[in-house]
Amino acid sequence: MPRRLVVIGGDAGGMAAISAARLHEPDLEVIALERSAHTSYSACGIPYVVSGAVDDPDRLVVRSPDQHRANGIDVRIQHEAVALDPEAGSVSVLADGATYDLGYDALLLAMGGKPVRPPLPGIDLPFIRGVQTLEDGEALLSYAATHPCERVVVVGGGYIGLEMAEAFVQRGQRVTVLEQGAEVMGTLDPDLGALVTAAMQRHGIDVRLSSEVKGFEPGTVVTAAGNLDADLVVLGIGVLPNSRLAADAGIVLGAKDAVRVDRRQGTSAEGVWAAGDCCESHHIVSGDGVHIALGTVANKQARVAGTNIGGGYATFAGVVGTAISKICDTEVSRTGLSSREAERAGFSAFAVTVEGTTRAGYFPGAEAMTLRLIVERGGGRVLGAQIVGGAGAAMRVNACAVAITAGMTVEQVAQLDLAYAPPFASVWDPILVAARDALKRI
Ligand SMILES: Cc1cc2nc3c(=O)[nH]c(=O)nc-3n(C[C@H](O)[C@H](O)[C@H](O)COP(=O)(O)OP(=O)(O)OC[C@H]3O[C@@H](n4cnc5c(N)ncnc54)[C@H](O)[C@@H]3O)c2cc1C
Repeated sequence: MPRRLVVIGGDAGGMAAISAARLHEPDLEVIALERSAHTSYSACGIPYVVSGAVDDPDRLVVRSPDQHRANGIDVRIQHEAVALDPEAGSVSVLADGATYDLGYDALLLAMGGKPVRPPLPGIDLPFIRGVQTLEDGEALLSYAATHPCERVVVVGGGYIGLEMAEAFVQRGQRVTVLEQGAEVMGTLDPDLGALVTAAMQRHGIDVRLSSEVKGFEPGTVVTAAGNLDADLVVLGIGVLPNSRLAADAGIVLGAKDAVRVDRRQGTSAEGVWAAGDCCESHHIVSGDGVHIALGTVANKQARVAGTNIGGGYATFAGVVGTAISKICDTEVSRTGLSSREAERAGFSAFAVTVEGTTRAGYFPGAEAMTLRLIVERGGGRVLGAQIVGGAGAAMRVNACAVAITAGMTVEQVAQLDLAYAPPFASVWDPILVAARDALKRI
């Protein structure tokens, strides 16, 4: 009898694991449960469908349920896992109004995240929309097509809020962003967040900081500072792990109630694995358990989980929290620890900030960029990096992520043989300049 793998969640964390598992155990029987109608889609592309840059939501589907079935995977869409029994090795599944039990030899939890939806008065009014799943994206598009949507309010100034604000600006709508913190992009140091706010304002976005939403009435957002007219409200307040099923089954949770996993993506229950937004990651710099809901992380964890499920051996190295986004012509990226996170993790650190250009200063199209390195006192290890600037600025974060992952000091970074030609960088790339400046302060 072949062993049976049951996967809960048919997107990145779930489906990417299956191929890794079958590579090691080709005759593994695989049943994938997905409560929506879609599998293997790019939620990351939703803002670009809304903006019109991608012309059809179907283009976000990397592999449909039928394509997976043709590959020998028993994909069951509109089947929701409603309970787990790790002792018995079985999952209760709800489909067509009835529940059935499904036994497994291995179980992969890949239920993703759930968008934060505060229990405010009026939160369920139809003009309030989320963008977590492809179905949310489709529903938002169909709402925008059938209702006047001149005044759009985006709640939350994180990267999803930023991308949705950009999408509606590009559709020609009036956009207000409400952020309860003192700056947008709370994963950056506040003064770099202020650069992002300034970029949003340059594009006509009304950014309201320290703005607390109290509730909603039809056509109105009620805030502590007064009422705001809105045809459409988009929620981008953040994502929490979708871990209730695991918790109810007694599986140990970690940071922000994400499913705790070991380095092989195994959970506290025998034969139960987890990957993606529902589970925790190890932060390479702080050493802490963290919940970082990103597709990059989900795909890598899935590959590790799948390899181990199939009888191979793989470990997940952890994360440094590298992320990238943009608002119109301004790019934003970050990796490692922010100044506040470094302090919370117990480091004594300082920040070095340089103003540079994305290309040689004289080269057409050179744009301003600000780059910050967060550096540990004493040894000079790079703990974090943040970039805000014009086209071509933000991908420099990858070089910083490599340096941070490798535990490099600013002395080592200052000597890196980084690429240079006038259309791409200055002869002293801002990363090198920042590292050199930091060296003077150690
Ligand atoms: C608008 C937006 C933009 C983003 N942009 C980026 C980006 O640019 N870069 C980046 O790295 N990441 C980005 N992300 C995050 C990225 O999409 C997620 O990290 C990634 O999709 C996580 O994959 P996952 O499989 O863990 O979870 P999900 O993609 O959430 O998939 C989980 C699946 O499980 C299903 N499910 C849940 N519970 C059950 C159940 N009980 N039974 C059956 N099925 C269940 C859900 O329906 C869902 O399809 C973005 C996310 C959003 C919403």
